[in-house]
Amino acid sequence: MNRRGILVVVSGFSGVGKGTLMKQLTERYGYYALSISATTRAPREGEEDGREYFFKTKEEFEELIREDRLVEYACYCGNYYGTPRDYVEDQMDQGRDVILEIELQGALKIKEKYPEALLLFVMPPDAATLVERLNGRGTEARDVVRERLARAVEEAAGAVQYDYMIINDDLEQSVEEVHYLIDSQHNKISRNLDFVEQVRKELITFSKGEL
Ligand code: 5GP
Repeated sequence: MNRRGILVVVSGFSGVGKGTLMKQLTERYGYYALSISATTRAPREGEEDGREYFFKTKEEFEELIREDRLVEYACYCGNYYGTPRDYVEDQMDQGRDVILEIELQGALKIKEKYPEALLLFVMPPDAATLVERLNGRGTEARDVVRERLARAVEEAAGAVQYDYMIINDDLEQSVEEVHYLIDSQHNKISRNLDFVEQVRKELITFSKGEL
């Protein structure tokens, strides 16, 4: 059986609740590995270096790019964001399913490099709910909210390139949906060709012997 972990990309508009969703998912199912990205954006209140992100200067980030230590990176609202390569590869080699919570451009790069990756897009129940959540966050200035909404419009057009959507209305239900979608990937025939072949060979042996 294919023991390599599954690479899962989770995207969704700013304010849609991806962060909370991923936190709940990883708390409930301890075996998921949530990748921690590097970024040049300033830490928000309550964020810690090495927990939410690895906070970097522009120079440090560009060094990571030069040394090819990121599987993908993108510029989002004026800041760099990128996924550290070693963690992702190591965890997948150990058979753990790895989750990347990243934006559209990064997601598409991942799909190119890892065609087997599962791409999930988290949607709000409707646009008004998203605007409400963004305004309610209170940590961002109005022009930042506007910039993030403009970005959401672009990302909505890109959502068609993902595999599945999750409508994040009821958190509990969304967590179960994400878990179910990831779990089903393990049973894909393309990931289990060796097992299918082994059973086929055993059947041949049986079919020729005594029953
Ligand atoms: P925030 O600043 O709100 O934490 O994140 C802004 C956006 O950057 C979100 O859509 C988030 O998913 C995305 N993001 C976070 N880490 C990465 C990363 O490593 N690569 C890419 N491409 N996007 C990321």
